[in-house]
Amino acid sequence: MSPESVLRDTFGYEQFRGEQAAVIDTVAGGGDAVVLMPTGGGKSLCYQIPALLRPGIGVVVSPLIALMADQVAALRQLGIRAAYLNSSLPPAEQAAVEAAMRDGDLDMIYVAPERLLQPRTLALLEECRLALFAIDEAHCVSQWGHDFRPEYLQLAVLAERFPGVPRVALTATADPPTQREIRERLGLEAARLFRHSFDRPNIRYRVAERGQARQQLQRFIADEHRGEAGIVYCLSRRKVEQTAEWLSAQGLTALPYHAGLPHEVREAHQQRFLREEGVIIVATVAFGMGIDKPDVRFVAHLDLPASLEGYYQETGRAGRDGLPADAWMLYGLSDVVQRRRMIEDSGAGEDRKRVERHKLDAMLAYCELSSCRRRHLLGYFGEDYPADCGNCDTCLSPPDTWDATEAARKALSAVFRTGQRFGAQYLVDHLRGKADERAERFGHTRLSTFGVGEDIPAAEWRVILRQLVARGFLTVDLDGYGGLRLGDGCRPLLRGETTLSLRRARAVERAPRRRAGSADAELDPADRPLWEALRDLRKRLADEQGVPPYVIFHDRTLRAMVEHKPRDEAAFLAVDGVGRKKLEAYGESFLSEIAGYAASSGETA
Ligand code: ADP
Ligand code: ZN
Repeated sequence: MSPESVLRDTFGYEQFRGEQAAVIDTVAGGGDAVVLMPTGGGKSLCYQIPALLRPGIGVVVSPLIALMADQVAALRQLGIRAAYLNSSLPPAEQAAVEAAMRDGDLDMIYVAPERLLQPRTLALLEECRLALFAIDEAHCVSQWGHDFRPEYLQLAVLAERFPGVPRVALTATADPPTQREIRERLGLEAARLFRHSFDRPNIRYRVAERGQARQQLQRFIADEHRGEAGIVYCLSRRKVEQTAEWLSAQGLTALPYHAGLPHEVREAHQQRFLREEGVIIVATVAFGMGIDKPDVRFVAHLDLPASLEGYYQETGRAGRDGLPADAWMLYGLSDVVQRRRMIEDSGAGEDRKRVERHKLDAMLAYCELSSCRRRHLLGYFGEDYPADCGNCDTCLSPPDTWDATEAARKALSAVFRTGQRFGAQYLVDHLRGKADERAERFGHTRLSTFGVGEDIPAAEWRVILRQLVARGFLTVDLDGYGGLRLGDGCRPLLRGETTLSLRRARAVERAPRRRAGSADAELDPADRPLWEALRDLRKRLADEQGVPPYVIFHDRTLRAMVEHKPRDEAAFLAVDGVGRKKLEAYGESFLSEIAGYAASSGETA
């Protein structure tokens, strides 16, 4: 068997993507590999195909216990003999799996790290013929990362106990320190490195200024993603629950997910998200690692993420199927204050805080960009993107910039003269000459800065202050009540030695709206009934077997069916995503649905 024939017959795909073929050659040939690919890049095939090509069983180490059953179900749909071992498995089933492993009756076994490291599991593996070890989500070894799993550190033992067995570590985390840690801690210093571009061309990056957040979110979903699956990230558990409740009250199917909910509730919500169509999950960052649902059409951030690494991972969960998807974020001055406060209050050591501040600054710079967001993101991860992308908000609708030097100086003077202890709202009122009782009491109405900014609307002033904070000209006083103080960088500006160009405020998001974010966007309207019929059929088949619909066929594959309307088995098999086993299992039902549709619409073959 060649890798190509396995790809075609078993997985039903025509060709390898990017580095897949090279990784598979290396690992199938007995070599070690470290694979860096973005989410949706196609990491699984990099170990699944070598596991099938090599004699013995492929061992997949994954921290995602809740998802193992689905992953294994998806493989079985392809005719691959797969099973899993984790704490959720009843003892009798566990014994059966172990026996099958010893007898060489399995192609692949998924194991949680804590299970793998148990002496009896290691002993069991010594009795088996092993094809390879795949260490998925390998960034979990990184102590600096947000997914750190202490057991991952002990996986180095695999190199010692099973010296002849190739190991492949995979992750979608792109930053160099994590890569180094993976190599060092997993004993993979000599492994070949495969790095795929981290670009996700189908994801449209957008950042909007926060106004009335819920209404903005609701409008975004209603206008662009009605009836589609998405993830909404919030910072706090409370906000997760309130947002989910609110969206539900608007008639959407929105479910909360955070670490404070009982295990069964979390599990049930995750299952509904995976199995039903059009479910929105509202979550803290506790949700999402390893979620391989391909048709998540949007990821919305209602709060600023702590770092670009986190942002990129979270947004990467959109559009794994390659169809258009949105990464949409709201952002405002309160985010800056909140995040800075979280860092200072974290109780972490000064070194750690310095790293966190640095990451936050990078995140803020991204928000305030007036140039291509994709270029900036990829540049941050060390990749040179040659041109503007044409698929982010700043490319699609370039923001106006203006010379804000004079306005910035007025704002900085106002901060200074009012004593560096007032928040943005007070300062905006001051600049616009609006006096409240405090202003009178403190004598601020007599200052030269009172009312100097009457000509600039309040909304614009808020944006100016936010950008001054984001750029370090102003800092937030975290010991007191969040008052603004002059930052280190403001002197040259005050002295008139530099100029400052800022983005203009936008009352409403101007990025051109499209329905193209949705999977059915470019369907010929005449084909819509067939599309719906095939989706219904898929859902029925999935429910019968208790698996998510995408385990039967992806949207992408259904779309290809709608487009090509295969009329016989050969044509059906030629559809991307249909392999031998799925032809056997589903060919007849889908072909007859398609034939029935053609007959009813008066078409002839
Ligand atoms: P990752 O684990 O890197 O996030 P997956 O392995 O889940 O990505 O792959 C993402 C999607 O792309 C899956 O639905 C997979 O079936 C599909 N895919 C992977 N490789 C190919 C290929 N060579 N041709 C077509 N589809 C592919
Ligand atoms: Zn762009």
